[in-house]
Amino acid sequence: MKNIILFGPPGSGKGTQSAKLAEAFELLHISTGDIFRNELKNETPLGLEAKKFIEKGMLVPDEIVIGMLSDYLDKMLEKKPAGFIFDGFPRTIAQAEALDTLMKEKGMNIDLVLALEVDEPELVRRIKGRAETSGRVDDMDEDTIRKRIEVYRNETEPVAGYYEKQGKLYRVTGRGGIEHIFEELSGAIRSL
Ligand code: AMP
Repeated sequence: MKNIILFGPPGSGKGTQSAKLAEAFELLHISTGDIFRNELKNETPLGLEAKKFIEKGMLVPDEIVIGMLSDYLDKMLEKKPAGFIFDGFPRTIAQAEALDTLMKEKGMNIDLVLALEVDEPELVRRIKGRAETSGRVDDMDEDTIRKRIEVYRNETEPVAGYYEKQGKLYRVTGRGGIEHIFEELSGAIRSL
């Protein structure tokens, strides 16, 4: 199995690249943001609880995210995938530790963490562009966008160091065309 994390700030292209990589390498794409948006669309208790945080640009509390991810992973394992690509998870050190424990329990591990690096003005520009079609409540106003980037810097960026210590981090500049970045990410996966 190949299990990969696509890491990076909001607007860095994680969703786009994860979907392309999942298809190319036959991996199952797990996006915690997409799971929450789906729960919200169906107005489930989990979706409605998550909405309170998402619309403010804050992280959903760890215990909610970890519990949800664990259940989802069990369901996805029934499909006997060639591996997973995690998009938007883990976003805190506590989530990274919980993921290590979960993977170990299931006889798996994380092989590679691909980190997309994009500067803040470009992130804001991209998310504002995306807002015109995404319909996402958290893409709509600049304050929420900047809050999400700040939360990323404070709570999520340290997760890169966590994987760097494990020798699993591979940094890629997230500027340039989608295909060019995809080739670079693909190369890193192929060299596993
Ligand atoms: P995303 O689609 O990955 O940008 O996620 C959208 C929003 O969902 C985030 O801004 C958070 O509010 C919430 N979310 C998604 N994944 C996580 C996570 N791993 N931990 C906490 N909150 C999350």
